[in-house]
Amino acid sequence: MRWRTVASKPGRSNAHLAGHYFCQQQGGNGARENPFILLNPTDLSNVNFQAPLHDLEWITPQRRRQLNRFGLTTVEALLTHFPHRYEDRSKFDRFPTAETEQPVCLCGIVKKAGVRHLRNNQRMFDAVLEEENAHALSTPLVCRWFNAHWVEKAIATGQRLVVYGKPKKSGANIVIAHPEFEVVDEESEGSIHLQRIVPIHRATEGLSTRVLRQMIWDALERVDPGSVTALLPAGFDPVPRVEALRQIHFPDSAGLLESARRHLVLIEFFGLQLCVAAKRAEQIAQPGEAHCGPGRLMEQLHAALPFALTNAQNRAIAEIRADLGSRRSMNRLLHGDVGSGKTLVALSAMLLTVEAGYQAALMAPTQILAEQHYLTFKRLLDPLGIGVALRTGSRKEETTALPLFAHAGVQDGVVGLNASASAEPQIFIGTHALLYEGAGISRLGLAVIDEQHKFGVMQRARLRDQGIAPDVLVMTATPIPRTLTMTVYGDLDVSTLDELPANRGKIITGARPDSKLPDAVKFIREHLEAGRQAYVVYPLIDGSEKLEAKAAAAEFEKWRQFLAPMQCELLHGRIPPEEKEAIMERFRRGESKALIATTVIEVGIDVPNATIMLIENAERFGLAQLHQLRGRIGRGVHKSYCILLSSKTEDPEAQEKLRILAETRDGFEIAEADLRLRGPGDLLGTAQSGLPPLKLGNLFADAPLMRLARQRAIDIFDADPALALPENGWLSALLAGNKKISLSQVS
Ligand code: ADP
Ligand code: MG
Repeated sequence: MRWRTVASKPGRSNAHLAGHYFCQQQGGNGARENPFILLNPTDLSNVNFQAPLHDLEWITPQRRRQLNRFGLTTVEALLTHFPHRYEDRSKFDRFPTAETEQPVCLCGIVKKAGVRHLRNNQRMFDAVLEEENAHALSTPLVCRWFNAHWVEKAIATGQRLVVYGKPKKSGANIVIAHPEFEVVDEESEGSIHLQRIVPIHRATEGLSTRVLRQMIWDALERVDPGSVTALLPAGFDPVPRVEALRQIHFPDSAGLLESARRHLVLIEFFGLQLCVAAKRAEQIAQPGEAHCGPGRLMEQLHAALPFALTNAQNRAIAEIRADLGSRRSMNRLLHGDVGSGKTLVALSAMLLTVEAGYQAALMAPTQILAEQHYLTFKRLLDPLGIGVALRTGSRKEETTALPLFAHAGVQDGVVGLNASASAEPQIFIGTHALLYEGAGISRLGLAVIDEQHKFGVMQRARLRDQGIAPDVLVMTATPIPRTLTMTVYGDLDVSTLDELPANRGKIITGARPDSKLPDAVKFIREHLEAGRQAYVVYPLIDGSEKLEAKAAAAEFEKWRQFLAPMQCELLHGRIPPEEKEAIMERFRRGESKALIATTVIEVGIDVPNATIMLIENAERFGLAQLHQLRGRIGRGVHKSYCILLSSKTEDPEAQEKLRILAETRDGFEIAEADLRLRGPGDLLGTAQSGLPPLKLGNLFADAPLMRLARQRAIDIFDADPALALPENGWLSALLAGNKKISLSQVS
């Protein structure tokens, strides 16, 4: 049997399906005529939402195969293939007389159409459209395709077309190249294809948007509303799901489209947050150990510092201390701007752990950073009598024989007093490799993972896979925008350092064209002569070892001449570790005045007397990375200068980046901007792969909805951690389904 929709008028009522909701939304006008006269009305609304498409007789086998190939195998899949945009075909744009940056949506009659043969067997097909009811001055529009045989077959003189694209001027003509188009013939009059807000679905070969639109319409007409189960908790959103689906495809108004979208985005976000909340609940339920001493060691450390902790640092330490003292395992993210003093917070936490008789480990992403932490820790901890060991690939000999001391813990709050125990390190510093090796640390109470710009997710999973359940503190290199702490890091508790120590010197940032290099050199020389130090950073484009060494050598020679007779040193990733450490140490002591470096200095390095940073080809770096680099200066009391040299002074995106950097030093603002400019991928690296693809929701624009969904999911688990209540049964099922598709890689 063939179904045919005899008439479907704009502003039609779906009262037979939607009933109440529409009556409410449209002012109680539920009694309008039903414009759908289906040939067999008894068969209405009997299709199950979950039914496979091949059960549906009214879709031809060929179409079903096409849909399957497109990944649409069930009614549900078809109805959640959402439009990617809409055309308001109740009022078309006027035909343009000039180029526009915005795409236009036009309706016109094909006056002539024909192919021209170009060189190299190329074909150019032009269809000239004339505006209906045009005023005298209306310019015809040329729609142009190259080598598009199927278009040539589809378009003929006399047809009415709706086209969508960007008009460009070409000679005397206005041309849209390869517009999206649809033939809207007489039959379309008063149909789903015209005179309404029309959905444009992503199409595929053989399945035009028009065909998809019709099939989705038909499916919506036939689906049994009772089979479209709710995916949000009762009372969370007033729109019934079936109605949201109807309106997202065939909106009756912009307002109804918006509430439909809201409902469906909430479904997506709630599904995601349910997984996150489940993970969090699991962790809370996990039996762990308390790893918190009374705090005397930490107080000693703080008393010995030449400065007071910031309020933000104190707050973070208090939050961590509560976690360490509780029996549930800590999973906490500590984030804050470059230079906000995360290391000290970590060290305080580690001392609390050590005081409780456990070991603590700090893992850094690079050898240089691990070594720097080691030196800092040694300086601060030697006076307290706490043993520190460095364990990196090249420095294993630093550690004493394993296994390490077995619970030589606290006696009256004093640590490691017996002779054998005090010889063992209580604190380990290493690269992330420490995790993979298992490290043989027998009583690991706290693992701190530093500068987790890119690796956090996988490393945390690694620890857990090894069956080690220490408290975990993850520190990021720069602030993480809220939308991401809610999703990618959603199962972590978050501590934020939103305050810089007061003694920070100002940083002045300027973006300059390459040609200003000589001025920059002069400027740097003056400051070096005044006793300050400088970083010169250049980007490496080619990863090959040979080229890298060559480029580095050439750069270095250039700068040595620029800055002679002052001492410069070269620092890059291929220099052997011991040599690197020696170079850093000479720079730290002020023996060398300038470091010519790759981004190995990107994270963490801390030399307060270094006040100048020059970054060559700055446009090649991402915003967050530039901010991180710049964070190497402005660490002491002197005023600092960051010079961003760029050849791309005209490129708007590069300009925007450099402008943002010049304007703000607030890492939170910069992180948001970076996210906006480049998306989450660059900011998170592999972590991003853990984010499920979102069909509708936008992590940034829809952040308020994410917050709502998150809170609701957490509330549910707080009240019923095992989802044991009968009314939460459906959530268990939903969770089981979602886990497979979405969060398999997150945390
Ligand atoms: P980041 O958060 O970027 O890792 P660090 O932990 O490396 O920052 O700290 C940067 C510098 O600030 C270090 O030299 C550290 O000793 C210093 N510092 C930390 N806390 C304070 C404070 N409260 N007041 C002044 N200086 C501080
Ligand atoms: Mg740091």
